[in-house]
Amino acid sequence: MGEKEILEDTTRTTGREALKKNVQAAIALSGAIRSTLGPKGLDKLLIDDDGRTLVTNDGVTVLETAKVEHPVAKMVIGASSLQDKIAKDGTTSTVILASEMLRNAWELVVQGIHPAVIGRGFRMAEQKVIKEIDNLSLEGNEKLFKKAVVSALSGKGHDSLKDIVSELSLKAVGMISNDGQKIDRSKIKIISQTGSSIKESEVVQGLVLAKKRITQSMPKNIENGSVLLVDGGIEHRSFSSDMKLNVSTPGVLESFRIKEREMLTRQVDKLKQLGINVIACKEGIDDGVKTELTKLGIQAFRRVARSDLDLLSKSCNATIVHDIMSATEESVGQCLSSSNKTLGGLEHWVVGAAGSGATIIIRGSTIDVVGEVERCFDDSLGVVCQMFEDGRLLPGGGATYVALARLLRRYAETIPDREQLAIEAYGDALEVIVRVLSENGGLDPIQSLLSVVSKQTTEDSNRFGINLYTGDIEDMVDSGVIEPLGIVRQAIIGATEASISILRIDDVLWAKQDIQIPELPGN
Ligand code: ADP
Ligand code: MG
Repeated sequence: MGEKEILEDTTRTTGREALKKNVQAAIALSGAIRSTLGPKGLDKLLIDDDGRTLVTNDGVTVLETAKVEHPVAKMVIGASSLQDKIAKDGTTSTVILASEMLRNAWELVVQGIHPAVIGRGFRMAEQKVIKEIDNLSLEGNEKLFKKAVVSALSGKGHDSLKDIVSELSLKAVGMISNDGQKIDRSKIKIISQTGSSIKESEVVQGLVLAKKRITQSMPKNIENGSVLLVDGGIEHRSFSSDMKLNVSTPGVLESFRIKEREMLTRQVDKLKQLGINVIACKEGIDDGVKTELTKLGIQAFRRVARSDLDLLSKSCNATIVHDIMSATEESVGQCLSSSNKTLGGLEHWVVGAAGSGATIIIRGSTIDVVGEVERCFDDSLGVVCQMFEDGRLLPGGGATYVALARLLRRYAETIPDREQLAIEAYGDALEVIVRVLSENGGLDPIQSLLSVVSKQTTEDSNRFGINLYTGDIEDMVDSGVIEPLGIVRQAIIGATEASISILRIDDVLWAKQDIQIPELPGN
């Protein structure tokens, strides 16, 4: 079969035409979110199929919610999602950088430079950035960390909110950090309550679940408890609709009930034998066994979500069992304390255990408020975790990108081949961040960029950037606009990765889609 037949049902774009279309797709995508970058970025109102609305200025949220079909645009969104996963911040920057790299690459292609050469040049520039970026950083301290978190939250919510979110995030990560070791973010749980003010949000050491023990007569606090987690319940089997019980002689039903009760008793005996004092079940707990459990001094919780059981399992080092009878000593976990506390007027279950981490309780007036605060925490926790792992910080407000661009221009001059042009183009692309920040702040983007470049050169300092709160070119560290090194580095790496893979594509085959109109009955 010839190529022609195989490709019969596809539309094909090749070579330059394919690249042009792909670059256009990336530019269109970044065009959709560039107005959200930075503290003066605007919000987007997202409306889904069901008419639900979401106001956000978070790049990755916009992109992941939008229905994007173009495969290349999807690749760029992938880079942004990856950034979200790894660094939790810098998602808008990643997309803007990737599309600018591609735009500049396209200009070189038009001048006759082969995409493969551009890809190589980009890779060289990236290596140089990775090598040099450390030298631009400064070592953080508590005060700078707080500023970095507030910078990361710029443009999101009002100032007092940023203060609360940054403080609680620092506190929560502080509770779970273990000097220099990798931080397990999943150890921070976030729960939310509506009906009170954001100011009442708090961090509690331990795992907090919005649950109360099944009866008040069970112990309120337990110390050094043995914990059993059950993926089922302690209850009578309910009759399913297709189950038949043939009652032939009187007493059959009664003996059936007795058997069922015996089964429950055996389960309670098993708990006693294993020395359990805290039990959490995914399903119900029969009212009939309540008293027996209470007598044994057991604290019991029912209808605990599977995801919470997983968290408990990790915290207390317990294995979730399918039913009580299959539990062994190995499945039993340990907790330091298991107590019932009233938080914000509602009863909560607080578990302190070796691996139980911390819980942030977000309070806010409405679901929408709480939702936005939750997204703020998402960003700030990402930034704080980054900083606890690697405390180096970089000047923000575009300063670092301009410094890297200046450095790349000098580096490019040392390369005698065509890659030189690509390295320059790559450096120019990094400057897009200052331009977009300035544009969103209502300033003249070209003028801002030129001022930053000249200020950095004349003052011989990499710290000068644009402070959008004053509109001036300032030392960003003095102004408190700083960001973790890990986030900037990852944004650059992610954008480079995406742009190089898009540059490599020179053939796009679209399957011709046969859109069928469904036949309606009665037509
Ligand atoms: P991203 O999704 O890429 O994190 P943001 O909308 O959070 O996008 O914007 C981050 C950018 O805003 C960073 O480059 C940061 O340095 C910059 N920024 C934050 N605060 C200021 C400020 N006061 N002045 C200028 N730039 C700022
Ligand atoms: Mg951000």
